[in-house]
Amino acid sequence: MSSRPGVSRIVCAQCERPEASCGCEKFCVYCQSQLDVRLCTDGLFYCEACRTACDYKVAEKDK
Ligand SMILES: [Zn+2]
Ligand SMILES: [Zn+2]
Repeated sequence: MSSRPGVSRIVCAQCERPEASCGCEKFCVYCQSQLDVRLCTDGLFYCEACRTACDYKVAEKDK
């Protein structure tokens, strides 16, 4: 593993890549939904409904 100091990117807990280069099958860890699933700040994927319900923040916001 290469952990560069100063870089605090949130990475996928499974493959340790940032969301953009993560090739994992993405589904919500709570409800297994694949609808609008995003990597959140804890390195896990959550769907839109669960993110809203639990107030999770996405790792990398869309512009
Ligand atoms: Zn991944
Ligand atoms: Zn969910």
